Amino acid sequence: MYNTLTGQIEPLEPADGKALRMYACGPTVYDYGHIGNFRTFLQVDILRRALKLTGTALRHVMNITDVDDKIIRNAAEAGVPIGDYTKKYVEAFFEDLEWLRIERPELMVHATKHIPQRVTLVEKLAAAGAAYKTEDGSWYFRLRSFPEYGKLSKKDLSGMEDGARVDVDEYEKDSARDFALWKAAKPGETSWDTAIGRGRPGWHIECSAMAMEYLGESFDLHAGGEDLMFPHHENEIAQSESVTHKTFARHWMHVRFLLVDGRKMSKSEGNFYTLRDLLLRGYKASAIRLALVSVPYGHQLNFTCGGLTEATKAIERLRTFKERVTAGNFAAGENSAIQEAAKKARADYLEALANDLNTADARAPIFELVRAANTAMDQGQFFSGDRDAVLPVLADFDAVFDVLEDRDAEPTRRALEWAKEAGRMGEVAPELLAARSLSDEQIEALVAERTAAKKARNFARADAIRNELMEKGVILEDSKDGVKWKRK
Ligand code: AMP
Ligand code: ZN
Repeated sequence: MYNTLTGQIEPLEPADGKALRMYACGPTVYDYGHIGNFRTFLQVDILRRALKLTGTALRHVMNITDVDDKIIRNAAEAGVPIGDYTKKYVEAFFEDLEWLRIERPELMVHATKHIPQRVTLVEKLAAAGAAYKTEDGSWYFRLRSFPEYGKLSKKDLSGMEDGARVDVDEYEKDSARDFALWKAAKPGETSWDTAIGRGRPGWHIECSAMAMEYLGESFDLHAGGEDLMFPHHENEIAQSESVTHKTFARHWMHVRFLLVDGRKMSKSEGNFYTLRDLLLRGYKASAIRLALVSVPYGHQLNFTCGGLTEATKAIERLRTFKERVTAGNFAAGENSAIQEAAKKARADYLEALANDLNTADARAPIFELVRAANTAMDQGQFFSGDRDAVLPVLADFDAVFDVLEDRDAEPTRRALEWAKEAGRMGEVAPELLAARSLSDEQIEALVAERTAAKKARNFARADAIRNELMEKGVILEDSKDGVKWKRK
């Protein structure tokens, strides 16, 4: 894996020889998660799953930022306590993770439940001479006390003005300044009464305190989107290492940003999507998952509707193939070419993942195997021993990519339920609404009527029913065990 800290590709291994201890910056729950956020969380999920597939155990911690500048501001505007304001976004985040099949980290921890740990860290920083209090009762990190500042983002801070301060949590690259660890209480805003005064924590101290609480002073890997490298991660290192004098995280993984149609995703540009937006437009959760990881984490991903359609087709192809291999009646024996192809596909797949988690290169050999096996089946040259060789390769692919099983109906159904409650039904794609207009029972009845019509050789009626169902987004598949149907 490429390590931002050293600028090198390095082996990623647990220092304790047991479990890889990793920390990934989680969501700030002031709104619904957008697909850029989920690209980052998905790439971390791919890392998790690839490690597990190759036998590495994990201790993965993710924080939920349920207090920060934006949350405090929005909650104050809405006139509610911050917990009331964030509740629905926290719940939505957990749902979104489930819909995208992002595994839960071993530990998910809330910022608001770790105020004492943050206060203690500020106290330790003050004792080490790295933090100072200002007249208004806020606390700042003294950048000059940490000469290594800038080692992650490779910033040259020689021109920095000593004692210049910044009190907002997010700031631009050129403002390397003393940053807020603790902000004095403002009237009408959420605050905590603590040993270092009444106030609220700065954002950066959250991840230092929580990572060290659950992973120890030094751990294996820290991950997040590329925007967090500076100042957030740089500040995390400064806050932690000033107290411990140990390397905070040995390895840093930064996920490059997602663009939409070649541009930065933004609400004002009108190219901003949450997961829910895409589900309501009729895209399937599995296709969104695959599209978001189709480009390796170290490269920008240009997200397009074309990319989603491509992912939808790729998944369809894999599912149809798996069905064909599983349900097929093959003679005993083996085709040595398929045996070889399966072995090679598996090796190439694992090698690509091991090579800085190259998801694009990992996908390719699987599709090559599908092509070879389909051709062999067409020619009657595929045997039961080949099925036994091919299915485990698909299983290994799916252990990481997790798109083979068709579980798409449920996220769409729940997103529609949510849209109804949230008053967003106007955004739902017409095909999706049509498909929902028929209940399972109504579909079953129409399918039965069509079967009866076919038996009575009334093909016109049978075709009319098929077309009606198709228009409402229901697809029929005639198989030897009868008719199967699914919603598009
Ligand atoms: P936030 O909720 O803003 O704290 O962000 C959660 C995670 O999403 C962080 O790791 C961010 O770096 C990441 N992130 C935000 N925008 C994007 C984007 N456009 N592409 C990829 N990752 C992003
Ligand atoms: Zn963080």
